[in-house]
Amino acid sequence: MESYEQAIKLLKLLFFTELQGTECDQNKMIYNKDIVILGIESSCDDTSASILRNQLMLSNEVAGQAVHKAFGGVVPELASRAHQQNIIPVVDLAIKKAGVSMDEIGAIAFTRGPGLLGSLLVGTSFAKAFALARNIPLIEVNHLQGHVLAHFIKERSTPAEEPKFPFLCLLVSGGNSQIIVVKDHLDMEVIGQTIDDAAGEAFDKCAKVMGLPYPGGPLIDKLAREGNSKAFTFSKPRIPGLDYSFSGLKTSFLYLLRDEIAKEPNFIDNNKADICASLQSTIIEILLSKLKLASEQTGIREITVAGGVSANSGLREALLGTAGKLGWKMYIPPFKFTTDNAAMIAITGYYKYLKGEFASLDAVPFSRIKIG
Ligand code: ADP
Ligand code: MG
Repeated sequence: MESYEQAIKLLKLLFFTELQGTECDQNKMIYNKDIVILGIESSCDDTSASILRNQLMLSNEVAGQAVHKAFGGVVPELASRAHQQNIIPVVDLAIKKAGVSMDEIGAIAFTRGPGLLGSLLVGTSFAKAFALARNIPLIEVNHLQGHVLAHFIKERSTPAEEPKFPFLCLLVSGGNSQIIVVKDHLDMEVIGQTIDDAAGEAFDKCAKVMGLPYPGGPLIDKLAREGNSKAFTFSKPRIPGLDYSFSGLKTSFLYLLRDEIAKEPNFIDNNKADICASLQSTIIEILLSKLKLASEQTGIREITVAGGVSANSGLREALLGTAGKLGWKMYIPPFKFTTDNAAMIAITGYYKYLKGEFASLDAVPFSRIKIG
C-alpha cells in the first residue's frame, strides 16, 4: 500500500500539476462531444502516443526498437524494457507536438491486447496511472479493432473519405490475417482468418530463410519491384471457405531454396529479386482469392485493407486493380497508419468514449483477444 501511494505521489510530481480531487463524472463526459484523447500503443515493439481532437489527429509519435535487429525477431523481454524507457518521452513529445495542455486531455485510451504481455503491461500501467492522476476516463482498446478503424482518422492535410457501413476489412499484419465484416465502428464480425501463420509472418519467416534482416516484409516489397513474379511457383493452400493458411507456402518456399541451393550455391544471391517477386505475388494471390469470395458471399463491395502488410506496394496495386474490375470501392490507409500506431488506438477510444464504454482501473492486459 505504501509503495502504491508513493508511486502515485511520484507520478504527480513527474507529470501533473494538481489533481481535481473529485470523481470524474463519466455520464457528463458522454455528452461532451468535443474531446481530446491521448492514445497509447505498446502491444509489440513500437511505443506510440497520439493526441486526437475528436477524429482529427494532432500528433502521432512512434518510437521503434532497434534492440531486436540482432536477433532476427522481437525479443519480448527486451521489448517491454524498451517500452519502459520510451513511454514517457514519447507521450511528452506527442502532447507537445499536438499543442494541447494537460488540462485539455479528457480521456486516455490504451491497447489492452492482443500482443506481448510484458509490452502491453507497460502501456496499460501508464494509462491507468495517467487516468487516476488526471481523474479522466480510461478506455481499453482492442488492437485489431484499432487497425480496422484507422480509416476514420482525419488529418488536416488530407481529408480522407470514410468507408460506409457495412464494409469488409482485410486485416493483414504480423500476427493476423482476417476478413472482417464491419457493421458499425464497434460492431465487427470475423468471417475468415488464418488457421496457422499470418501473411506478415509468411513475409518475415521467408525473409529470414533468405538471410534478410527482420522485419522482412518491407525488404521483400522493395526487392520484388525489380523481379519477375512468374520466375518461381510455390504451393497455394486449398482451405475451404474464407479461412487462410500460410504455413504450406513457407514450407514450399524452404524446399525450393534447399533444392536450388544444392544445384547452385549462390542461388539466393543470384535470384533475390525474382524469388521475392514470386513469393510476394503468391501471398497476394492467396489474400485476394478469399477477399473476392467474401465480397461475393456477402454482397459487400466497400472494401478496406489494414495492418502492416497493407503497406505492401504489390498488394495495394493488386487491390486497386481488382477493385476496378469488380466495381469495389477500395479504401487504402496512408502508410503511417498501416503499422502499429497510437492514432488508431485513440480513434477507437473516441468511438468508445461517445458510447460511454469506459474501463475500470483494475483492467489487465490480455495477450489474446478476439474482435467482436
Ligand atoms: P502486428 O501488429 O501483428 O505485430 P503490424 O501491423 O505492426 O503487425 O505489421 C507488421 C508486419 O507488417 C510485419 O510482418 C512486416 O513484415 C509487415 N510489413 C510491413 N511493411 C510491409 C511491406 N511493405 N510489405 C509486406 N509486409 C510488410
Ligand atoms: Mg498491429
